[in-house]
Amino acid sequence: MATIGFIGLGNMGLPMALNLAKAGHVVRGFDMAETQIQALVAGGGAAATSAAGAVDSAEVIVTMLPAGQHVRTVYGDSVIGRAPKGTLLIDCSTIDVESARAVAADAEAAGLPMVDAPVSGGVAGAAGATLTFMVGGADAAFKRAEPFLQAMGKTIVHAGGSGNGQAAKICNNMMLGISMVAVSEAFVMAEKLGLDTARLFAIASKASGQSWAMTSYCPVPGLVESAPSNRDFKPGFTASMMLKDLLLAQDAAEASNASTPLGHEAARLFKEYVESGHGAVDFSGIIQMLRER
Ligand code: NAD
Repeated sequence: MATIGFIGLGNMGLPMALNLAKAGHVVRGFDMAETQIQALVAGGGAAATSAAGAVDSAEVIVTMLPAGQHVRTVYGDSVIGRAPKGTLLIDCSTIDVESARAVAADAEAAGLPMVDAPVSGGVAGAAGATLTFMVGGADAAFKRAEPFLQAMGKTIVHAGGSGNGQAAKICNNMMLGISMVAVSEAFVMAEKLGLDTARLFAIASKASGQSWAMTSYCPVPGLVESAPSNRDFKPGFTASMMLKDLLLAQDAAEASNASTPLGHEAARLFKEYVESGHGAVDFSGIIQMLRER
């Protein structure tokens, strides 16, 4: 069992840290919010009084932070240059590919193996230790990280070198954002054409229009029991988070000279939805904006 420093105990980080503690590791956690640290302590973890304090005497550092600038700051100020050589670094935040690669390069130059390991599966997956991890980094770092990721998730996939975990995550979420808009458009059009949405669902879920956005997360209520549309679009995965990922995808498309016209349009639509006051609503709620147009 290892001593793990865990930085960023938010909606995702706290249940992930608790699962590492449940697996028998010593987990010393830090967050800007004291309540989150106390929740970790209540669940069997230990408190650190600063990010640097979480790093001291840890063999493994796990971070779950909001965005690229937080990851650059925490690693630059408190981890790299402080953690002893050989300490394994695992960043599970969803951030831009460029920041992930820059931080990993600095870490490796300091003798610290690092993987980027963003997740899919949301808060329920974090609580139930059923997350999917998309991992970027060298083979040896991946092998060392795997048992820790297994304590927090179910599916662990090595996507290649540094930053490739983030690349996989934004490619996946760009497909999801586009397909949620596509499903929403089709179901609203069905309503307007007088086609019963339950019948469209029965047909399209067995035909070539099938997608996860429809069969696991249908934006029309009454068709998929676990979908947020049945709970007044309570998230789930917020529209703000989807917008963040679609904007990361647009940055990556620009940096790599990839043509993503539908990704661009999905980002524009989710921006409109978030800016009209729906950032905290589940992303599948975008169907309401399309219906009202
Ligand atoms: P969150 O805002 O609930 O948690 C982030 C935490 O980081 C907060 O508690 C904040 O206080 C803390 N923090 C920020 N700066 C810090 C610093 N310098 N030192 C210590 N703590 C600091 O966000 P979340 O929902 O837990 O998401 C975290 C990451 O996971 C994001 O990158 C997000 O895109 C990704 N993600 C979230 C979901 C989801 O459904 N919530 C799903 C997949 C991926």
